[in-house]
Amino acid sequence: AQEFGIQDALTALGIKDINEGTSTGSKSFSSGEIIESISPVDGVLIAKVKTTTKTDYEKVMDTATSAFNAWRTKPAPQRGEIVRQFGNKLRELKEPLGKLVSYEMGKSYQEGLGEVQEMIDICDFAVGLSRQLHGLTMHSERPGHRMYEQYHPLGPVGIISAFNFPVAVWAWNTALAWVCGDVCIWKPSEKTPLCGIACQNIAAAVFKDNNLPEGISCLINGDYKVGEFMSHDGRIPLVSATGSIRMGKIVAQAVAARLGKSLLELGGNNAIIVTPDADIKMTVIGAVFGAVGTAGQRCTSTRRLIIHESIYDKVKEAVTTAYKQLRIGNPLDEKNHVGPLIDTDAVKNYEQALKKVVEEGGKVIVEGGVLEGKGFESGCYVKPAIAEAENSYDIVQHETFGPVLYLLKYSGDVENAIAIQNGVVQGLSSAIMTNNLREAERFLSAYGSDCGIANVNIGTSGAEIGGAFGGEKETGGGRESGSDAWKVYMRRQTNTINYTTELPLAQGIKFDL
Ligand code: NAD
Repeated sequence: AQEFGIQDALTALGIKDINEGTSTGSKSFSSGEIIESISPVDGVLIAKVKTTTKTDYEKVMDTATSAFNAWRTKPAPQRGEIVRQFGNKLRELKEPLGKLVSYEMGKSYQEGLGEVQEMIDICDFAVGLSRQLHGLTMHSERPGHRMYEQYHPLGPVGIISAFNFPVAVWAWNTALAWVCGDVCIWKPSEKTPLCGIACQNIAAAVFKDNNLPEGISCLINGDYKVGEFMSHDGRIPLVSATGSIRMGKIVAQAVAARLGKSLLELGGNNAIIVTPDADIKMTVIGAVFGAVGTAGQRCTSTRRLIIHESIYDKVKEAVTTAYKQLRIGNPLDEKNHVGPLIDTDAVKNYEQALKKVVEEGGKVIVEGGVLEGKGFESGCYVKPAIAEAENSYDIVQHETFGPVLYLLKYSGDVENAIAIQNGVVQGLSSAIMTNNLREAERFLSAYGSDCGIANVNIGTSGAEIGGAFGGEKETGGGRESGSDAWKVYMRRQTNTINYTTELPLAQGIKFDL
């Protein structure tokens, strides 16, 4: 990987051989055990990170709490100016950061750059938003009274993120939370701690240049136990957690037990419906990118293709032919389509899924397998696979975080396809490929897709920052990024002002003294 300039990227981002995993900005410290970041690209140790102990965490919380008291008094447009500068720093460091994302997580360099671009885009969005944190005004039923609502900063926001979007998810949360007047404490995935260190270094430099207090951007590192410091901490009014459904259920219960708020962005089981009126060429591009892009490790990756029986063989043939052209290898090399899985545990899950689908009666039509030999030393490279299956299979009902695509057949009306599409516990992303207006509108209607994202003639994978991102059912119900997702980072207050000398009560209630 060194031939792709990894060392220069690490230097540009301030990554050392051993890094302090706890930081309140320019101050870094840590007294916990060490985690090693091993690249799935070549199996080489990139660097080490010292994790956060409870004592370290308490120091972070003290600093974050006092930083919040200062930061919330700064006018929102001035907070936006800081986020604008942060976005500009990301523009300067887009290439090294994109490279680190690719090398530490394993996604293609192009996707690594795309992730940093998403961070830049959400900063731009947040800057505009900093002048638009609007509340409504209402007409009071009482004479001489005025009613309105305003949004105030909420407090320290805890962010727990997954390995597969090791930088963008943090930015989706922080860019909005910062303009809303909150401070942030971030626990990145223990599988991608260096991406966390790099982002924190970039943010810390901006806050320091502006003489702002320590604690507006905080970083903690470690496994689930460090995440639990935050989910159980009553000083954190909002925990934003991205990851598996299993994790979301544990975090949500801990936060709910103290009546805090959680914003959950959990697993998906995304499907594309292919109707008789679909454009097959577009379907193949959308389905193949959706299933094998990021080696099937996106929350929005396409897991199921629900194909009408009349075109089933044609679509099957076109997709399997496309799979033959896929090049698997080092994701920093732009010639390759598919990089590695995050680690060998992920490889085991992928192998088990392929075994299980056969046990349940499915048929593998594009064989999987783990690649060995030169260039595949990390043991994390696998072949994207396709199996014919039934939606009711247990394995199809679960999200396997890897490049396994299930082909499912439907007959009759599009309603039957929608029922299959909705017949899983997850509800993140969904798509229909059709040139038939009636089918498209039915898919988008109140009795159509039950997902947070529903697309027509676009695959399931990826999203723009302008829309609210998230899913229903066991995906957790949270919304991040665009539209009015900012509201979760603020507390809403309704204000009624009486400018008369009388004190009338609401609902005409009389209380004469
Ligand atoms: P994971 O659930 O294993 O870990 C995610 C994060 O949660 C990590 O930082 C981990 O340390 C932390 N964590 C785990 N258990 C915890 C606990 N009990 N308390 C507090 N923190 C805890 O997920 P992963 O393997 O890193 O990521 C893959 C999963 O994330 C997939 O299911 C994918 O669909 C999902 N994901 C969802 C979205 C979305 O926006 N919906 C985005 C990206 C990833």
